[in-house]
Amino acid sequence: MTPDESVVVEDQVQHEHWMALALEQAKISAEAGEVPVGAVLVADNELLAAAHNAPIASHDPTAHAEIRVLRQASQSLGNYRLPGTTLYVTIEPCTMCVGALIHARVERLVFGAREPRAGAVVSQQRLLEAGHYNHGIQVIEGILADSCGQIMQAFFRDRRRAGQGQEPDVAGD
Ligand code: ZN
Repeated sequence: MTPDESVVVEDQVQHEHWMALALEQAKISAEAGEVPVGAVLVADNELLAAAHNAPIASHDPTAHAEIRVLRQASQSLGNYRLPGTTLYVTIEPCTMCVGALIHARVERLVFGAREPRAGAVVSQQRLLEAGHYNHGIQVIEGILADSCGQIMQAFFRDRRRAGQGQEPDVAGD
């Protein structure tokens, strides 16, 4: 293994570690009957915040996991900007959350599985590639993608079986 390769392996181990924590959060959403998406915010290899998707319970359409970790971290750090942070989220973010990541000046986004219907990073739109924003965010995708996608699939499958009305239009709804 070359030194470069060992750095990549180390990064991968870190990414999987943090994504596993985000997955734990997604499981909390599923148990609460919310679309299972989880997120954590990390800086200098330290956990700043962790949250699960909770719009139904909190009567808040903006209570996606990503928004909730940004809110928690901003409040605990006393700063509306979060430079130098990495946000891990199990599913590709939606339009609203990509916007919030830019406002917060998050440095890097790491997501697990793609969200083909509403993803605003690579699937439906590529918002972070739009040239008019004054802040760029590095993107890494595919970390624990199978586990992140499976928890979503299982959630919707169980819901269809239970016949509980309509599926939401987008992840997090
Ligand atoms: Zn969102």
